[in-house]
Amino acid sequence: MTDHVTIVGAGPAGSMLSILLARQGLSVTMYESRPDMRTTDIWAGRSINLALATRGIEALREVGVMSEVEEILIPMMGRLVHDDGGTSMQPYGSRPHEYISSVSRTALTSILLDAAEATGQVEIHFNMRCRGVDFEANTLQFTGTVSGEASNVAFTTVFGTDGSASAVRNALVEVNGGRVDLEPLVHGYKELTMPAGADGGYQIEREVLHIWPRRDFMLIALPDLEETFTVTLFLANEGPTDSFEHLASGGDVPGFFEEHFADFAPLVPDLADQFTTHPHGHLATVRTTGWAHGDRAVILGDASHGVVPFHGQGMNAAFESCIVLDACMRDHPGDWATAFAEFEQGRKPDTDAIADMAVANYVEMSTSVVDERYQLRRAVALELDRLWPEQFTPRYAMVMFNTIPYAEVQRRAALQGEVLERLTVGLTDIGEVDWAAAERMVSELDFNQASDTGA
Ligand SMILES: Cc1cc2nc3c(=O)[nH]c(=O)nc-3n(C[C@H](O)[C@H](O)[C@H](O)COP(=O)(O)OP(=O)(O)OC[C@H]3O[C@@H](n4cnc5c(N)ncnc54)[C@H](O)[C@@H]3O)c2cc1C
Repeated sequence: MTDHVTIVGAGPAGSMLSILLARQGLSVTMYESRPDMRTTDIWAGRSINLALATRGIEALREVGVMSEVEEILIPMMGRLVHDDGGTSMQPYGSRPHEYISSVSRTALTSILLDAAEATGQVEIHFNMRCRGVDFEANTLQFTGTVSGEASNVAFTTVFGTDGSASAVRNALVEVNGGRVDLEPLVHGYKELTMPAGADGGYQIEREVLHIWPRRDFMLIALPDLEETFTVTLFLANEGPTDSFEHLASGGDVPGFFEEHFADFAPLVPDLADQFTTHPHGHLATVRTTGWAHGDRAVILGDASHGVVPFHGQGMNAAFESCIVLDACMRDHPGDWATAFAEFEQGRKPDTDAIADMAVANYVEMSTSVVDERYQLRRAVALELDRLWPEQFTPRYAMVMFNTIPYAEVQRRAALQGEVLERLTVGLTDIGEVDWAAAERMVSELDFNQASDTGA
């Protein structure tokens, strides 16, 4: 064991983890391949935001930055669904605190980086890309992204928080026999910006997450503090029509938006320009085994458990993983090999569960939200939660407004889904629900039975 550790990757996970490790009394050196986002516009004019929910908030509170983060949040009370020329609101929950918040990725990470440096124990080196790890020579191999110079840096324990293409992970699985399963999604994404209106204000309603669900593709928009919206188009990567491939090879971009998103298209005057110049991102679920190598290395965040963004949980889960790892290390002072092994064993069922739920949520967002049967089930779920909150919590609320372990959420949601199915089969209106039967079924839900996760 050592009192100096190294982190590779100063994104959300790395910057959060550096504070936790500093609080354990460790001195931390962190390497990041990009320039310092606090002084350089690394997103080249794009304003990228994320949905922050309870798991992330709990972690931010734990490292003492939540009051600063509050200042940069925009609450989103529900989904505003744009369909058939009209809109309808679907609240995220039934209680005042049940909402999610839009937050700038850069602003949030900057707060964490400042807090990390303020500990006096975290030193950050930017523009340093890790190429690999030599576990025999105990060195990390870097290339300076500005200087182009290669260098080797000695390390004793390295934490890999270098995202979904993690170099640390790739070196790790070579020495520990772990596996990396990348499940690419057939859909990719492109981020666009909806500018402020002529009066300088938001062009569409501010405190909601806008969705234009179109079954095989969808558009979402999250508010930014600058009175703009970050808009993301999720669309098939390939295909003869309605795909990034088609639109990039001569397809009619304005025509595509006018046909499918008629109320949105006029709000972004340079839509075609943005579409051509902004990158097309790919999406994948990353599942790995072999998160650690003795007490020498461990990976977390997107490096070990990357999820598709349809539950808005990737960063939230990465933050939660930092807290879980910190607790394991505190439980086993002086024995990090055990701490890291326990971390993987305890956390992997949860990260696998959120990976599944995130993929399933794509169908919910792109298709189900406009399906009458889904809407009925959702209305009944919210009512069951209102009537018997101790026994029934909708799955969305368990993921977003709770810290119940994800694997346990998945198990409870499956049981609750059966209740909803039985209660609503053949019905078209919530007024037809048999509430006496509902009370009986809900009281029979026994979440205390032994679960797979032991949670
Ligand atoms: C379109 C989209 C929307 C999303 N929306 C949400 C949302 O609403 N809510 C949510 O919770 N999550 C969301 N996510 C997921 C979220 O962005 C990630 O889960 C989160 O950023 C993971 O944090 P991380 O620190 O593990 O990895 P990253 O954010 O990928 O950070 C890794 C860091 O390591 C650096 N790095 C990479 N390679 C190297 C290297 N070789 N050497 C040195 N440094 C390196 C990178 O520059 C980066 O700074 C979304 C993702 C996408 C793609």
